[in-house]
Amino acid sequence: MPYYDLRCEKCQSEFNVKASIQERSEGKISCPTCGSQELATVYRKVNVLRYKGKDCDVCPVSVNDQSHGGCCNGNCRHGG
Ligand SMILES: [Zn+2]
Repeated sequence: MPYYDLRCEKCQSEFNVKASIQERSEGKISCPTCGSQELATVYRKVNVLRYKGKDCDVCPVSVNDQSHGGCCNGNCRHGG
């Protein structure tokens, strides 16, 4: 089951709840603080993990692969 980060529209409290997609869509989740079912989903910023072996976070496709000449096939000009 997925976890939902929800915010109550009524009392503005945020909480995390584990529920099925069906339970969420049917509005069976209620605020633990006030019992309201007027809930908004909270989207959190997720830190983007750097790929292992990726040596440049400027170039989206850069890979530290010496067989291809390193970052961006050696054509990357970032950072001098
Ligand atoms: Zn509430």
